[in-house]
Amino acid sequence: MRRLVWQIFPSFLLLILLCLVAVSWFTSRSLREFHVERTAADLEARARLVAEQLRHFPVGTDAALDALSKQLGELTGTRITIVLDSGRVVGETSEDPARMESHAGRPEIAPALTGRVGTSIRFSRTLQKEMMYVAVPVASPVAGAVRAALPLDAIDLTLRELYLRMVLGGVGVAILAALISLAIARRISRPLEEMRLGAARFAAGAFDQRLAVGGSAELHALAEAMNRMAVELDARMRTVLLQRNEQEAVLASMVEGVLAVDAEERILRLNRAAADLLRVDPQQVQGRHIQEVIRKIDLQRFVARALASPLPVEGDIVLREQEEQRFLQAHGAPLRNAEGKEIGALVVLNDVTRLRRLETIRRDFVANVSHELKTPITAIKGFVETLQDGALESPEDARRFLAIIIRQADRLNAIVEDLLDLSRIEQYGEGNEIPLQLAPLDPILRGAIQATAIQAAAKEIRIEVDSPPGLQARIDPSLLEQAVINLVDNAVKYSDPGGRVRLEAEPAGDELLIRVRDWGCGIERQHLPRLFERFYRVDRARSRKQGGTGLGLAIVKHIAQAHGGRVSVQSTPGQGCVFVIHLPALRTLIQS
Ligand code: ADP
Repeated sequence: MRRLVWQIFPSFLLLILLCLVAVSWFTSRSLREFHVERTAADLEARARLVAEQLRHFPVGTDAALDALSKQLGELTGTRITIVLDSGRVVGETSEDPARMESHAGRPEIAPALTGRVGTSIRFSRTLQKEMMYVAVPVASPVAGAVRAALPLDAIDLTLRELYLRMVLGGVGVAILAALISLAIARRISRPLEEMRLGAARFAAGAFDQRLAVGGSAELHALAEAMNRMAVELDARMRTVLLQRNEQEAVLASMVEGVLAVDAEERILRLNRAAADLLRVDPQQVQGRHIQEVIRKIDLQRFVARALASPLPVEGDIVLREQEEQRFLQAHGAPLRNAEGKEIGALVVLNDVTRLRRLETIRRDFVANVSHELKTPITAIKGFVETLQDGALESPEDARRFLAIIIRQADRLNAIVEDLLDLSRIEQYGEGNEIPLQLAPLDPILRGAIQATAIQAAAKEIRIEVDSPPGLQARIDPSLLEQAVINLVDNAVKYSDPGGRVRLEAEPAGDELLIRVRDWGCGIERQHLPRLFERFYRVDRARSRKQGGTGLGLAIVKHIAQAHGGRVSVQSTPGQGCVFVIHLPALRTLIQS
């Protein structure tokens, strides 16, 4: 595309040149005509002057006439010819008249001989030049005509000089006019160019820079209209942006994953929650096919189902990753545009893994509890039946069986008590704050030693304590004592007779640690992660034999959590274990 200035300027230039040529042509023609006329008048005057001179010459003095012609001709730079009535040439400036033919027939002489002024422009064979001739009649004493002539090239010479000046002037005018027209073209196109730049700025979103409202009325109106348009566009863009940001914020803060796909299963939108669930980068997957970027077959099938159905659909999706499985509950619905046309599908994903896990744990727990209760009940029932069937008759057997029954009943009791404890402590985890009080740790450790003294004495196990007397924490003393008792009890249970158990309390950074250390059988590494689960035992038979319920460590874990802390374990099989209750230190508690 040519620029506007290069469209206007050449037209201007052409117009100027045309005018110049036309004017020059017309002027040169008029000038030539004027010159010819002037020359003719001049020649006539000269001829008349010569004719006047002839009055003083009588007829028959041809030689004198010729001399006069030659003299006057040379004086005036004109060719003078004197012709008699008969047409015979008697005087001539540039020739010998005797050698000249009759001039009666010459176009200028013929009218002069009849008393009129004759004019002619033609080629003179005598002088071999284009000449202008003017002849006037002479009446007396010599009758005939006087002719004055000039070569036309004299006129042409004068004119040529004039033409040269005219051309030079014309070129000057043309250059000036070209410059002026260039300036005008620029003046017309510059505001347009500015407007183009302004429009480009608007297109780029810079609405704050308005167009200068100047120039002609049309441009002024255009600039104003464009400025108004910019203001309106700006306002609309702001609204759209605001709405988009709001939508973004709503989508981004949703806990549910939201995924929108078009009819070709290309991803239109994906919020942060969905990206986290599906482990993808929302920027990278936008606009791409779901099969290509999210390789989860369950999800792909669900999206296809949602797209195919005109009604909302529901389904469960299992995402399998290296180690864990995640369960998603998915809701799909058709996605419609403003006109209500279906353009794809919207899928909302809910992570229900935790719920599922809790369900599984509950189910397992019920099964475990039933199983744990069933064993002592079966035993009790069996021995009671044996007694009924006649064992009562043998007092020795009866006593033995009754002792077993009592042991099993105690076990039942222990399980039920532990379960009750556990459910009571678990309540604290579910939002009910446990009432904590500032209390020293030392009495708790000593209380735990007293509570386990009988079992320790039975196995001749020595229990050592190392706790600074001033150490305090915000605790529920009786609950914390129960946790420490459980740990010491285990340490005693799983230590060999004659061994020792060590109890320590100490501050460590942000935490207060209560350590229970033993040098017993220890625990294999693979059991450690599940050790604090309910009913988890390393060696079932041994635990039962020791009267364990499998709930002791679960209770410890929950008590630690109810205090805002946690529990950890380290063990080397054959060398013993260290169980640690981590409590938040006082200072952080006060700060929070
Ligand atoms: P239990 O009532 O069976 O002791 P716990 O929950 O207290 O149940 O303990 C779970 C399992 O952890 C026990 O069965 C035992 O195998 C193991 N365990 C706990 N404490 C120790 C310890 N100090 N030394 C070795 N093993 C232990």
